[in-house]
Amino acid sequence: MGNDTQVSFEDTSVAFSYKSDAALKKANSIFAMVNHPWISSLAIGSVKLALGLRLPVEGIIKKTAFDHFCGGVSIDSCDDEIALLAKFGVGTILDYSVEGEHSDRGFDQTMEETLRTIEKAQQNRAAMPFCVFKPTGVAPSELLEKIQRGDALTAEETQSFERVRTRFDTICGRAFEAAIPVLIDAEHSWTQDPVDALSYEMMAKYNRERAIVFNTFQLYRTISLPNLKSALADAQIHGFRLGAKLVRGAYMEKERARAAEMGYPDPIQPDKEACDRAFDEGLRFCVDNLAKLDLVCGSHNEQSNRYLASLMNERGLSHGDERVWFAQLFGMSDNISFNLAKAGYRVAKYLPYGPVRSVMPYLFRRARENTSVAGQSSRELVLIRKELERRKRESKNGKSTGGA
Ligand SMILES: Cc1cc2nc3c(=O)[nH]c(=O)nc-3n(C[C@H](O)[C@H](O)[C@H](O)COP(=O)(O)OP(=O)(O)OC[C@H]3O[C@@H](n4cnc5c(N)ncnc54)[C@H](O)[C@@H]3O)c2cc1C
Repeated sequence: MGNDTQVSFEDTSVAFSYKSDAALKKANSIFAMVNHPWISSLAIGSVKLALGLRLPVEGIIKKTAFDHFCGGVSIDSCDDEIALLAKFGVGTILDYSVEGEHSDRGFDQTMEETLRTIEKAQQNRAAMPFCVFKPTGVAPSELLEKIQRGDALTAEETQSFERVRTRFDTICGRAFEAAIPVLIDAEHSWTQDPVDALSYEMMAKYNRERAIVFNTFQLYRTISLPNLKSALADAQIHGFRLGAKLVRGAYMEKERARAAEMGYPDPIQPDKEACDRAFDEGLRFCVDNLAKLDLVCGSHNEQSNRYLASLMNERGLSHGDERVWFAQLFGMSDNISFNLAKAGYRVAKYLPYGPVRSVMPYLFRRARENTSVAGQSSRELVLIRKELERRKRESKNGKSTGGA
């Protein structure tokens, strides 16, 4: 049954209950640093230079930004974080965040590692409800781009694409056997068509009974809402259940720059409002079609998360309806994740892991995302400071401050 109370994301004591005072203070220092645009740029530049010169900076990175945003350097080193999130009803999506693979050997290694995340999830499915992979972790982006352009492939490229198909199939097949759904991330628009095609091929094979394979819809692309609707129509025709992960999209600047440079129409919504409207319409479409699809909402936007919760409420769905998941990234938007989980919704967080050096592109993206816009502190920093203040007040009043 639905519940009439509106979910609130204000309670920072719930949001940060899993963080000790020391961890919260460390988070405050990290976010305060990246909040300053010039300090953030300087730090990113210096770290890039130091890594390039092979200076021993990995230890410092590991103890600071890495620990805040990542689970560890290997699957097993994520155990503490997995257990901690599970204690508060939040699932973990182990995300092997090594980027920039170019060789078949690298793609095979990423596939093997993804299979290990499925195995790990199988051992504790309540704590690890999904696994995930990035298409360009198992496929050469130049090849995907060539296929999307419609260029003829050489015999070697055709074989290379067959290996990509086999990697997709191996991961999705293993996910099916383990009954652990797999999310296929979306990247650049110029490589997405073959990824979509492969995803639907996998869904037709493995989503007969339930949604095991999920494709990602980036609602900042004008094409994505029509794509979502036609994907559901196709799923109906071919008799499988659609797995739909909705996000806004992470590569707006790159998408716009490429379109301008190459002289084709900008594929992105004209402004943020249009993007927000498309995202919310996508959520509504999914909730209206839960008889035929499963939804994962990947967003840090409070309004969108609240909107999805209210849609569920309007339709009389229980908070724990197993067809609807809310997802955020580890180290961000804990106010959304932990308050939703406390209210009984299904919530999971991507937990990136991998060798420090290899996850640096991921950490640089998080730093840029949390840099102050127009002089305002980033939302994460505001929330962390609010909680630090609250704990200070409580300890003055002689109460326990909480925090793991
Ligand atoms: C669990 C999870 C999984 C994710 N998986 C993917 C993935 O597979 N692929 C991917 O690309 N991203 C992915 N993301 C990132 C996501 O796409 C967003 O970049 C990020 O979450 C910020 O968007 P938001 O919904 O949280 O909210 P907000 O912070 O409210 O929105 C910011 C987003 O709005 C859009 N936007 C901003 N300004 C404009 C503008 N002027 N015009 C049009 N649009 C604008 C951009 O997409 C921007 O990222 C994922 C995020 C999460 C939490």
